[in-house]
Amino acid sequence: MASGGEEREPEFQLITFFRFAAIEDPRAEVERHRAHIARNGWELRGRIYVNEQGINAQMSGRGREGEAYAKWVESDARFSGMRISVYPMEEQAHPRLALRYKPNLVQLEGGTNHLPLTDREARAKPLSPKEWHENLIKVNAGEADAPLLLDVRNGYEWDVGHFRGAERPVQESFRETVYTNAQDGLGPLAGIDKSKPIMMYCTGGIRCDVYSTVLREQGYTNVMTLEGGVQAYFDEYGKRGDQLWDDHLFVFDSRLAMAPDGRPSAELGEDAATLRCYCCGENTAPPPHRNCPNVDCNRLFLVCPGCSDKLDGFCCEACTKASHIRPSLVNPGRYEKYSNYDSPESRAARRGPGRSNRKVRRRQRRKLELAAYVLEHMTSVDESRARLVQSTGGTFADRTRSLIDASRTIVVEDEDDDDNDQADESDSEEGTINPALSRYSKQRATLREAYALLAKDQRTPENLVEAAEKIAEERKRMKRSEHEAKTPMM
Ligand SMILES: [Zn+2]
Ligand SMILES: [Zn+2]
Repeated sequence: MASGGEEREPEFQLITFFRFAAIEDPRAEVERHRAHIARNGWELRGRIYVNEQGINAQMSGRGREGEAYAKWVESDARFSGMRISVYPMEEQAHPRLALRYKPNLVQLEGGTNHLPLTDREARAKPLSPKEWHENLIKVNAGEADAPLLLDVRNGYEWDVGHFRGAERPVQESFRETVYTNAQDGLGPLAGIDKSKPIMMYCTGGIRCDVYSTVLREQGYTNVMTLEGGVQAYFDEYGKRGDQLWDDHLFVFDSRLAMAPDGRPSAELGEDAATLRCYCCGENTAPPPHRNCPNVDCNRLFLVCPGCSDKLDGFCCEACTKASHIRPSLVNPGRYEKYSNYDSPESRAARRGPGRSNRKVRRRQRRKLELAAYVLEHMTSVDESRARLVQSTGGTFADRTRSLIDASRTIVVEDEDDDDNDQADESDSEEGTINPALSRYSKQRATLREAYALLAKDQRTPENLVEAAEKIAEERKRMKRSEHEAKTPMM
């Protein structure tokens, strides 16, 4: 078992770090790193992303090579003082190295380029693990002046473990966060006094640093983050009896989950099987997540041994009958690219309807997402607003369903209103946080058409997609960054 205590040479190390800093020529920066790694013959794996706003790395290296690389990065004035997390590993934690320019270091709806990430003052107040711990005690004691505890990760990460007292995130995926937490009646921030203290956390701190600038711009004045994220908390409290983390921590490397004391969760066996099974609902699933072998499903889910046997590693009955599948993984974990499981048969299948169906579905989902987002902001009628509020679930599907429903009562505004809105918009341009909203006036003509379609008693999901398509085209013209890698980073 890996233990942080002993000082023997590690076989490998897992390294994570990030730093927001203005980088003038990020592509040249990437080349500089590449050259330095080659010169030293370092064997590094994982993801190292660089852009105008800084660097984000989750990587592993042979021996102490990863650490040497991180220290080399840190020796540059722009990155000086950044926090570097190091864990001993018995193997590389990633299959290959992706060192490259990335338009957005963190995936967030609308991108992150417009956010003042490199301005420390624009972010939240960082709390040390100790300050965090003390505040968390207040939260759990239900003290009146206790801050609101906000989990800023993906829903499935919460399922594996979370700070005591943290509610499951409304968003299934962090990228939706921009419009979930503050959404009318749905999110934990809806309707709260904007001066109420909010304490937010994520795995390594980067998502909080990004999202806190959004919240600050939305007018929340008392936002705090856990500096260094849960990882930093584990470093100080993970082995203590009074630590306040329940269960495990989802991580984005081959371990998939780790215990507060630093061990990979897979090493804990039966004792750790206390999580909710996706299939039967019992609290008997061990971490980490499984990845459904059905390529078109690809669900990451927690499952108990019984259900795993019964369903042969699939997430549900329907998936066991799918034709576009990968071999079940011997150990829990994520699948690599489908091509790694390539065979003449699977190649044929990949060209077949499975893949294009999935593509179409993905595209449709995006379109619906757009439509939902825009419609949400255009829903001004009380009744439809009420319906939105009524929708209980926080998943995208739920919201879309309620939106389609709500769109029945949407009223197309007349010309005068339109002009007024535009005037309002340009007035408030400076203070607008969301670029999608500030550009919203330009989309109005397109939306009007989309709206008309919805108003003509043709509010089928298909029509909503068609309407959204027009919006999407408009959006493309505005050069919004759409093509980000699919792999999540913290
Ligand atoms: Zn089960
Ligand atoms: Zn499945």
